[in-house]
Amino acid sequence: MTILGDAGPKAEPSEVYEVWKKACDEAFAAEGTLTTFPELPRGVKTCRERSCMLRKGSKDGTSAGDLDVCIHDVEKLLKGSGCYGLKWLKTERVKWHPDQFARRCADGFKEEGVAKATEMFALLGGLVGKENRKGD
Ligand SMILES: [Zn+2]
Repeated sequence: MTILGDAGPKAEPSEVYEVWKKACDEAFAAEGTLTTFPELPRGVKTCRERSCMLRKGSKDGTSAGDLDVCIHDVEKLLKGSGCYGLKWLKTERVKWHPDQFARRCADGFKEEGVAKATEMFALLGGLVGKENRKGD
C-alpha cells in the first residue's frame, strides 16, 4: 500500500507537512473524482499513549481507528505548518467537513472517504477545543 504524503523517515516536520498538504490540496480540489484519501504520513503516527494505542488498534467494524492516528499525531503533523493556532485550525477543520468531502469523492469511494473525513473533522475539532481551553 502506498501512502500519499509520505516524505520519508528523515524528513523535517515542515517537509512532512508540505508533502501531506499537497496531497490534501489535490484531494480538496477534486469534484466527484477522488478515489484515495490523503492519509497521514507514517512518520507522524508515533503516539504510544495507552488509550490512543487501544483506539488506533480497533478494527472491529466501527469507524474509530480507520485512520490509524490519534489527536497527538495530528497535532504533531499540523505543527509542521508553522502557522498552528486556533484560527488556523478552525479554517483547516472546515475543509474536512463530511458534507463537503462527500462531493469530492467518486461514487465507489464515497463511503470510505466520508468515514475518514469525519474522523479528521472530529480530530481537528478536538484540537480546536484544546486551543480554546488555553484561553485564546
Ligand atoms: Zn495519542
